[in-house]
Amino acid sequence: MRKVLRFVLPLVTLVSTAILVGCSSAPAIDLPTPVTTIGQATPVSVHVTDPHGVRSVSATVEQNGASYPVWQMSQPSKAKEATFNFTAGVKTTPQLKDGKAKLVVEATSSGMLHKSSRIERDVTVVTQPPTMSVDSEQHYLYIGMADLATFNVSGAYTSAGVRVGDQSYRAWPLPGGKPGLFSLFAFAWNMPQGTIPLVFASNGAGNDVTSPITVIFPKKEQPHYTVHDLQVSEAFMQKVVGELDPNGSGDMVTRFVRINTEMRKSNNKTLSDLRFKTADHFLFTQTFQRQPHSQAEANFADLRNYIYQGKKIDQQVHLGYDLAVTQHVGVEASNDGRVVWAAPLGIYGNCIVLDHGYGLQTIYGHMSHIDVHEGDLVKRGQVMGQSGMTGMAGGDHIHFAMQLDGVQIDPKEWWDPHWIQDHITKRIDAGMAPASDVATKPAQRRRRPAKSRRRR
Ligand SMILES: [Zn+2]
Repeated sequence: MRKVLRFVLPLVTLVSTAILVGCSSAPAIDLPTPVTTIGQATPVSVHVTDPHGVRSVSATVEQNGASYPVWQMSQPSKAKEATFNFTAGVKTTPQLKDGKAKLVVEATSSGMLHKSSRIERDVTVVTQPPTMSVDSEQHYLYIGMADLATFNVSGAYTSAGVRVGDQSYRAWPLPGGKPGLFSLFAFAWNMPQGTIPLVFASNGAGNDVTSPITVIFPKKEQPHYTVHDLQVSEAFMQKVVGELDPNGSGDMVTRFVRINTEMRKSNNKTLSDLRFKTADHFLFTQTFQRQPHSQAEANFADLRNYIYQGKKIDQQVHLGYDLAVTQHVGVEASNDGRVVWAAPLGIYGNCIVLDHGYGLQTIYGHMSHIDVHEGDLVKRGQVMGQSGMTGMAGGDHIHFAMQLDGVQIDPKEWWDPHWIQDHITKRIDAGMAPASDVATKPAQRRRRPAKSRRRR
């Protein structure tokens, strides 16, 4: 018996030590959504991981040497990981004052040693929501069009801008050190009619303020995009699939449609993400120019039916202008800007994206050759390479498009110096070259009544 004990006892010690070591981990705590400000009742989410479950989790706010309990877990949890949601703020802790504080979360393991962990986050207590005033301009909007709103926000805020439906456009400080903010925003081609753009400011403490912008939509129903049937020839399909999906599986139609839908979506996401590569000022001082002598073969937001062997195989919206001149024409920069993309991009083929500041960017697709590099500064009218038919193009042309904060817009207003002056530069006093300095289409248009009189 003693012999047996002599053997068993050390084993028990060994096993229990092993158990203790195994149980001695402390819980891991993290906040999936960072908390930087605390307001009236700010939502806080705490994620705790512990292989043995947690015995207790609690949160306190520390300010000016005092510690205020704000939340406590009601009963121990056996789960290896758990997320706890609660609110912290002045509503439940009226002692909190505007200013700096610390959010502290502590958790204790259910393991044998009851090990604890603690995290601290610096926060700012903000008891008042920001207030704002929005300009009294009338903003004319229709499909694909951009505009500019100015506004003032007072009180602490962490983000501000203009929201249109589910899209949001950043706010920028007015140029030249003037007080106030502005946002360039757009009414996207697929935005439901009647959506009212809102200026917003958020202090990150659950206090959001919004104010509608006065917009005027055209009285008549918005012009719907034109519908085109695009005949997909055998040669076009072979060319596109061979170039963009050489090793894919499935039949040609499936692969073509996959390129046209999934690759298009992914390429548009890449373009949209370039909004973060933008200057905090306009890089241009003149009107955007349209590729000289070009013919528009497709316009913004044309709806395209793809017809193959008499059957419709796909439908997409074309978010730019197809400008044709001659083969391998020099592709000119529409305005002064910085190259933020100069590389192949799926359906867009060899593609250049120029940033013009404040999230405004131009896109040039299907080029046969690119002569600029990412980071280069280019001048309006500078030749950046040659046109071609790379990507999803059946003939030599330039796919020209424009985007604002990642949302593709109709470039045509930006080709009009009077529109730019009235809707953009005048409102923020951005010091552009006066519209009259530039040879323009509207100026030519004004001469036309004389001609028509002669015709009578
Ligand atoms: Zn195109």
